[in-house]
Amino acid sequence: MGYIELNVLNNQSSLAMGIDLGTTNSLAAVWRDGRPVILHPEGKSGSVPSVVHFPADGSQPKVGREGRDHAAAAPERTLFSVKRLMGRPAADVQGELARIPFPTSEGDDGVLRLNIDGREFTPQELSALILNRVHDHGCRALNDEKPDRVVITVPAYFDDAQRQATRDAARFAGLDVLRIVNEPTAACLAYGLDQEKSGNVVVYDFGGGTFDVSVLSIADGVFKVLSTAGDTHLGGDDFDAALVGLIVEGLAGELSEEELKDPGFLTAARLSAERCKHALSKDPQAELHMVLAARGVTFHRTVTRAEFEALIEPLIERTIDSCRRALSDAGLAPDEVNEVVMVGGSTRVPAVNAAVESFFGRIPHTELNPDEVVALGAAVQAHILIGGSRDMLLLDVIPLSLGLETVGGAVSKLVMRNSTIPCSVTEGFTTYADNQTGIDFHVVQGEREMVSDCRTLAKFQLKGIPPMPAGMARVAVRFHVDADGLLTVSAREESTGASTRVEVEPMSGLSDEEVERMLLSSVEHAEEDFAVRRAADLITEIGTMRTATERSLDGVREHLDRETLEDIEEALKAAEEATSADAERLQALRDELERATLPLAALLMDDVAKAALSGKRLEDV
Ligand code: ADP
Ligand code: MG
Repeated sequence: MGYIELNVLNNQSSLAMGIDLGTTNSLAAVWRDGRPVILHPEGKSGSVPSVVHFPADGSQPKVGREGRDHAAAAPERTLFSVKRLMGRPAADVQGELARIPFPTSEGDDGVLRLNIDGREFTPQELSALILNRVHDHGCRALNDEKPDRVVITVPAYFDDAQRQATRDAARFAGLDVLRIVNEPTAACLAYGLDQEKSGNVVVYDFGGGTFDVSVLSIADGVFKVLSTAGDTHLGGDDFDAALVGLIVEGLAGELSEEELKDPGFLTAARLSAERCKHALSKDPQAELHMVLAARGVTFHRTVTRAEFEALIEPLIERTIDSCRRALSDAGLAPDEVNEVVMVGGSTRVPAVNAAVESFFGRIPHTELNPDEVVALGAAVQAHILIGGSRDMLLLDVIPLSLGLETVGGAVSKLVMRNSTIPCSVTEGFTTYADNQTGIDFHVVQGEREMVSDCRTLAKFQLKGIPPMPAGMARVAVRFHVDADGLLTVSAREESTGASTRVEVEPMSGLSDEEVERMLLSSVEHAEEDFAVRRAADLITEIGTMRTATERSLDGVREHLDRETLEDIEEALKAAEEATSADAERLQALRDELERATLPLAALLMDDVAKAALSGKRLEDV
């Protein structure tokens, strides 16, 4: 019997879209080829400004970028930040209404109405226009597919009414909401943190007009929001305002007070300020430039990053205060936080990043674009909800282990072969020599035990470690592999916060055959590797024992009998040859050193005990 292939008609797209419906910007993502990707038409950004403009001629509202382009010329017909009004009674949003250029009223149902050219719109309806725009924009990157099933993100603090309003907006836009997901949860999903067994995560979300910090706990892949804090009127807009201040100051002589308050002038100034701010995130100085063609006035000034940072420092400090509050509400100390995730365009400002790193004492996650991470996470969630398994589809695993060279040329593996990506691992390292002010990191790839048998991926240096005795410095090193396989290695010294990072593509230049060969060779050399590794570890251990012994001998030499002293010195002398011996001999040297120094250890223990009894500090004994 022959089979005829039927082309089953199915209207349902096999995709589901994740949408970050933001206060300032919105964007869409889907799961494709085993990972979430931002949807953007070719050559265009994925981000759609959450702006609706109503043209004076009564034609169709202009939404997104087009809407924002009209804002400078006609601010009185342009609506920003409609998200702030979602699901809130008029009484709660009086402050917001003052900023809205249209008359408002409250309907019998208690829902707010905006009166625009004689027509009434609810925030839900306006939000639907934005959702529609984002959905269309995203679909343009999908050829023929139009997934109408979506996951939409909302702030963790949104109450039931605000969530329901978001659902209603989606319904008006003709979309089928699979789930409303918290923005911080989505950010964690994008980083694959749901794959961790347990831990606490802080999501620091600094957007255009809002700042939110959330503390989440993970248990077996499930996120729980422990606390949230923030400021509904603190964001990149305030950074812009600080720069607008410079323009206003500079033009005070040339423009009248009235002209300086003109909404059209202020909108144009804000756009100039934002451009300058973006440039300052990558350059040490940038131009603040604005032309008022109608008045024949030009403003121009160079702003240094340091100047800008001084202006925004109090704003950043306020976000840190919120972090402090959120932690205390969650009952956690900063060092009980396992991961910090950066979200929102404003976290691209280096000073923001530095303040967060220093407060939490750890390097925050910035490997994914902070303005895309929520949409990416929404796409992960959408994919899971339509029955896609993340594990199955995550074809990508790390084919070769990734690690660091440690003392003696051995490899300490941080990310093991076959780990699924994205993933991250943090491990603590310390200095080997006294007063070492820098550490050289050598990132390697491979299964063999010694660096010389692995492949070098990168070398970098962490400088600025304060001089201290060997073993005292605390350096946290994190390996993060993102969904594209890009490895970011970051290192941070805890007392000074000195930090550095490198990015590498571990698989670039490696063919499948080479990977195969590297794997085979680790099996072939397993036994020999083990011996070499053991020898290297013993050499390191003997080195540490020698230094410790010599140091302790100095203080207590006269308290040891001659025989013991000679015994120790002999063992020390023998240990000098420890650089070249094989593992067996090294083991003997190590054991001999340990045996000979037993009386010394006992004496030291005794001193500690005596000191404790007499209440004296050890160094006084
Ligand atoms: P929201 O979540 O509030 O919708 P976003 O996360 O998209 O907003 O953040 C928008 C803010 O990020 C804007 O104030 C924008 O100026 C700012 N921003 C975007 N890119 C940069 C950058 N490179 N440097 C500084 N600020 C940036
Ligand atoms: Mg956002």
